[in-house]
Amino acid sequence: MSKATQILHSIPVDQLTGSISVPVYQTSTFVQEVPGLNKGFDYARSNNPTRMALEDIIAQLEGGHSAYAFATGLAAIDAIVKLLKAGDEIVAVDDIYGGAYRLFTQVYEKLGIKIHFVDTSDATNIIDFITERTKLVWLESPTNPTLKISDIETIANIAHVNGALVVVDNTFASPVAQNPIALGADFVVHSGTKYIAGHSDLVAGIVVAKTKELGEKIKFIQNATGGILGPWDCFLTIRGIETLELRYERISSNALELAQFLKSIPQIDQVYYPGLIDHKNHNIAKKQQNNLFGGIISFTLKVDTVEAAVKVVTSTHYFKLAESLGGAKSLLCHPAQMTHASVPREKRLRSGVQDSLIRLSVGIENVEDLKQDIEQAIAQLKFVNV
Ligand SMILES: *Cc1c(COP(=O)(O)O)cnc(C)c1O
Repeated sequence: MSKATQILHSIPVDQLTGSISVPVYQTSTFVQEVPGLNKGFDYARSNNPTRMALEDIIAQLEGGHSAYAFATGLAAIDAIVKLLKAGDEIVAVDDIYGGAYRLFTQVYEKLGIKIHFVDTSDATNIIDFITERTKLVWLESPTNPTLKISDIETIANIAHVNGALVVVDNTFASPVAQNPIALGADFVVHSGTKYIAGHSDLVAGIVVAKTKELGEKIKFIQNATGGILGPWDCFLTIRGIETLELRYERISSNALELAQFLKSIPQIDQVYYPGLIDHKNHNIAKKQQNNLFGGIISFTLKVDTVEAAVKVVTSTHYFKLAESLGGAKSLLCHPAQMTHASVPREKRLRSGVQDSLIRLSVGIENVEDLKQDIEQAIAQLKFVNV
């Protein structure tokens, strides 16, 4: 069965009415016949039929035992970290999502959890940091915004030999391109806000657990801490998933063509995109991402200044200037002043986020229009004083 067919037919028909779209069960509680006897649902924090449908669909797409939907991607990340206790350690990819960095270092470090940030684009780099205290190895691949790729299978083998669990934030690759559980991961997290829901109209998060035992632990945290996704947003996320494969394929082919085009523009310096054959880990990306490289491209300008980047990001028509990514409409942002504004300049430069770095989230528009849009915005650089 192809992925497109699998996705569409993982969406259940309503048992009660035959409704082909999953109904929104907008309720807080469920009537019981006698105390303790119900139809499988008792209170909407613990379970809700609309949420259950979404969770089952994502568990199937990722090949996990079960999945759990949270109010945001960060709430999903938080639920996994809550499995740890003081004294435990995490080895995490060094250019981790900024919100996860903030959560780890400003919330969990003071509760006694130690985090080692490591360049995992070379798998063996983690060896020096794994000890018997390491409980989680936390990966993102590709990363944000410099699109580093890590070899999930090799890293999972090293982690498991040392008794650590492997978490992959699969937001950028989406379940269409990459299924980390098949590569050895124990948990997958998603910001459902991005490709999964796909229309820039909600925030959501998902945890997928590989086994029943790990799933029960997340279910406990979900119910105990209460950061669930509401039924209406579950419905919209399911509706987005209907076109996930179509969108991700179109976005990936648009992005590959656009990345190649950007390399031919004289004012552009570096282009970061895992689909380009000169990307450091292109071959790993190709193998573990099903030949789909996603919609995120970053590039720097030869005039490496904030002023030059601002000129470009304020001169596009189709690429809208906004945080976030993964929607049907193209977006762009200037990480130095937006997503990475809270990172000190020296640290930001060391992680490759130069003053002129611009990040694109390529959408499903016609690629010729997108190329022209960037080309005319770059032409505006002639009005920047250097
Ligand atoms: C956006 C994002 C998150 C956080 O998700 P929210 O839904 O914004 O809380 C986590 N990881 C990655 C890779 C993201 O891009």
